[in-house]
Amino acid sequence: MADIQYTVDKRDLAFVLFEQLDVEGQLLGWERYREISRDMIEQIIDHAAELAVKKLAPLNAVGDRHGCRFENGQVFTPPGFKEAFQQYCEGQWLGLTDDPALGGSGLPAPIAIAASEIFMGANLSFMMYPGLTQGAARLLAGFGSDWMRTQVVPRMLRGEWTGTMCLTEPQAGSYVGDTRTTAVRQGDHYLLKGIKIFISAGEHDLADNIIHLVLARTENAPAGVKGISIFMVPKFQVTPDGRLGERNDLACSGIEHKMGINGSATCTINFGDNERCVGYLIGRESQGIEIMFHLMNEARLAVGMQGLAVGSAAYQLARAYAHQRVQGVSVERWKDPLAERVAIVQHPDVRRMLATMKAYVEGMRAMLFGMTLYAERAEHDPDPGEREKYQDFMDLLTPVAKAYCTDVGYEVTRLALQTHGGYGYIKEYQVEQCVRDMKIGSIYEGTNGIQALDLVGRKLGFKQGRLFKRFVQHLNEFVEAHAGHPAIGPLVQRWVPAKDTLVSVTMHIAQLGLSGDWKYPAFSATPYLMMFGDVAMGYYLLEQARIAAGRIAQSSGRDQAFYRNKVRTAEFFIHHLLPEAEARAASIRSNNLSALEMEF
Ligand SMILES: Cc1cc2nc3c(=O)[nH]c(=O)nc-3n(C[C@H](O)[C@H](O)[C@H](O)COP(=O)(O)OP(=O)(O)OC[C@H]3O[C@@H](n4cnc5c(N)ncnc54)[C@H](O)[C@@H]3O)c2cc1C
Repeated sequence: MADIQYTVDKRDLAFVLFEQLDVEGQLLGWERYREISRDMIEQIIDHAAELAVKKLAPLNAVGDRHGCRFENGQVFTPPGFKEAFQQYCEGQWLGLTDDPALGGSGLPAPIAIAASEIFMGANLSFMMYPGLTQGAARLLAGFGSDWMRTQVVPRMLRGEWTGTMCLTEPQAGSYVGDTRTTAVRQGDHYLLKGIKIFISAGEHDLADNIIHLVLARTENAPAGVKGISIFMVPKFQVTPDGRLGERNDLACSGIEHKMGINGSATCTINFGDNERCVGYLIGRESQGIEIMFHLMNEARLAVGMQGLAVGSAAYQLARAYAHQRVQGVSVERWKDPLAERVAIVQHPDVRRMLATMKAYVEGMRAMLFGMTLYAERAEHDPDPGEREKYQDFMDLLTPVAKAYCTDVGYEVTRLALQTHGGYGYIKEYQVEQCVRDMKIGSIYEGTNGIQALDLVGRKLGFKQGRLFKRFVQHLNEFVEAHAGHPAIGPLVQRWVPAKDTLVSVTMHIAQLGLSGDWKYPAFSATPYLMMFGDVAMGYYLLEQARIAAGRIAQSSGRDQAFYRNKVRTAEFFIHHLLPEAEARAASIRSNNLSALEMEF
């Protein structure tokens, strides 16, 4: 039974892309996407699934067991990673949404996100290398000088060079304002000096050059985050005409031995030990955090996607196992020792776990893919009012997507392991790796606690609360339109009190904030974010159920079963998981200060 393989839920992906998001109707009519067709999208998904299942998934356990090797400043990735990376780059999977003029493929974001879910579910460690490269290339394309855009970005999008983001230092983790790395101007470049830790893909053997994006402090810069600048610091120097120069003065001094994502090299990088580390300013001095936030917002969504991808992979493993593993008798005949033995999928408690996983996975997919459509509209919608509205949605929902989906994704992997019983705890079964790999999601890219503070401390009050009001208005329009729906109306009505509770708890927190009491809102930020996530996920699942309910009558066979199951999934979530939102609200409304007064 240990050979259950990684599978891609293509049916649900197709549902989200073509039925929930209606990418054909919503995006393919735009001038920029006129050459893209549904056929082409289906082929992209098929090719991605083939590469993921045949190449990346078999390397997942290899990466986990071998890990990366550090020898004399060099880092060697696990066996097979180099060849797979080459194949990945040849397939032009890097830069799917990027500007074709720079070597990207110019595809709509929902298609790229579908491919990335497929790949990350197959092998999260492997995907750290192209994922960081893509993010770094996009930052350079948006904010770098012309020579960086023309000489560096295309090489990154071809995978010849890879990228990193270097923020963390021993004393500067969540609070990047304590960055100590320095940058001193020397004519057209700067000399950097400092140590960065925990740098993913910081050193490896997959590419000819590594382009580090480094946060550092220039001379006389103001204290805190306002005095931070961002630099492009290549491993091998790059001349403005694109030639590869001599080795830059930076070195990997070690790698971490971790709980999960062992195929991903997590490096300590020393910059300027010999006072010769050349870096090039991106944007203006002290603009570093503002620029890095653009990359971080995308990266946060990508980390939220890890919750979906690894959660979905774990759920598929658990589902298959539950059908194969025979144990005990059905609950109707539990007193009969001679009753026929049944597969564990028949036990109500196992079904509860499977239903929880299914609802969370499909809810995450609905939410995160929905957000990629918002991102498209925020960037390219012809109507400026629509662009503003969808940017507001993105700003509000990004911390929720990152933190809620990584926590929920971790819960899905936990339940998937539990479904396997003792075998789940055994390394021969892939599910335990899912749990370990998934844990990092709540830690990097700003811990989930920091996301919650971002939501409560910044996003709720941003533009006099406009972001939140707009999103609630969107939810209210959904209620007005569908509370009387013959099939899903009763579910919508059952969800409405949770939505109203979110609004009233938000007012409660806002009033505390206005009165100058930030201690309690900061204390309540995490349960608030999770409650927000529960309510939002309820909305996205109801939206899916509405679409599915409308298709049951005209469909048959497997399609009909799929649509019926969609409605049941929303039903399960509303009845059995959404009530957690009310419990979280009760905790917030209690105004209880015991934890703040307790001695530890
Ligand atoms: C495998 C791995 C890969 C990584 N990759 C990268 C990378 O590529 N680039 C990079 O720059 N960094 C990377 N990191 C670093 C990662 O982003 C940091 O670990 C993370 O930001 C947390 O910082 P810290 O570890 O110093 O924890 P701390 O900041 O010390 O936080 C410890 C705990 O305190 C909480 N906390 C801290 N401050 C506050 C506050 N003000 N209010 C409430 N709670 C607070 C946190 O939520 C957390 O629970 C990586 C880390 C790991 C483990």
